[in-house]
Amino acid sequence: MKKLISPVMLLAFFQLPQALPVTPPPGRDYVPAKNVVIITIDGFRWQEIFSGADSALISNNKFTPDTSLMKLMYWAASPFERREKLMPFLWNVLSKKGQLFGNRTYGNKVNVANDYVLSYPGYNEIFTGMPDPEISSNRKKMNHNQNVLDYLHRQPGFDGKIAAFTSWDIFPYILQESESSFFINSGYTSVTVDKPNQAFTLINEVQKDIIIEKQATRFDQLTFLAAKEYLQQYKPRILFVGLGETDEAAHDGRYDLYLQHANQADKMIADLWYWVQTTPGYKDNTTFIITTDHGRGSKSNKWTSHGSFIGGSSQTWIAMAGPGILPAGEIKINEQQYQAQIAQTIAKTVGEDFGKQRTIAAEISLQ
Ligand SMILES: [Zn+2]
Repeated sequence: MKKLISPVMLLAFFQLPQALPVTPPPGRDYVPAKNVVIITIDGFRWQEIFSGADSALISNNKFTPDTSLMKLMYWAASPFERREKLMPFLWNVLSKKGQLFGNRTYGNKVNVANDYVLSYPGYNEIFTGMPDPEISSNRKKMNHNQNVLDYLHRQPGFDGKIAAFTSWDIFPYILQESESSFFINSGYTSVTVDKPNQAFTLINEVQKDIIIEKQATRFDQLTFLAAKEYLQQYKPRILFVGLGETDEAAHDGRYDLYLQHANQADKMIADLWYWVQTTPGYKDNTTFIITTDHGRGSKSNKWTSHGSFIGGSSQTWIAMAGPGILPAGEIKINEQQYQAQIAQTIAKTVGEDFGKQRTIAAEISLQ
């Protein structure tokens, strides 16, 4: 997310969004869940999701200072073993309960539909259901598109029941934070709630010390702790947790940290899943949607970055599990899904229709 402006920003401005499915493709109907947990892992590639650590990058001292230690942790001969070592919850639990899209080895593709392949355009697409040619950079500029979280917030039964916790501090712009919006806490902003408790106070105290570094991306662990505390205290129906450290590590050229942050994200997802499955009102009644905002370079010398001119940047993935989603695991069907389909997928998951008054991409076709 570090890169501010795409080199082809002006050129791409004049292009129209590519054709997106606007009517639901054939597939299973959504069985409404009561709650949704959305988790994004910024700039995390489908290659690592489906095949685990990359042999060239985990063996290269330039990107992985201690190659032998990292290989002990994350290397195995088969991609199936490697991905389980890297993302154990995703592959041992979620894949056995839900569906994973984007393994291009089987021709199953997920792409972003925006031309810029940067974070703001990506998150805009995820939450508004359409790419916006005018959103071409990561500048702190207020989004003029309504997002699905805001739409749901204004539907009966959702008021005060939607919350977003993100590591990156640009989300208040992406998600149109205002006095009438749902709860948003981003970057190193203090968590301000109407019933502060010891946990929130502690999180805010820790943040105050770190804020000196003026980082745009908060430590994911703090984002996660704040989100989980809020989940326990306020019981939102829709929770969005936006993690950001994978992308930061990749831009820094640190493949070891990129893997470590992904592994930590997997643990956070496991923790949230465990809480959900042991809490009345959430158990068997909550859908998880996990994805990323963009891919990154697929070549060994390009993986650190992403953008219009870096091949592989538009390739992403989506994982889902919850009520009515058959345990089909990784989908091996040759088909195409787009990031823009996630907005309507979130709405359909809770029995709502974000496409009633606007043209947006159809929901993901479940198997
Ligand atoms: Zn980035």
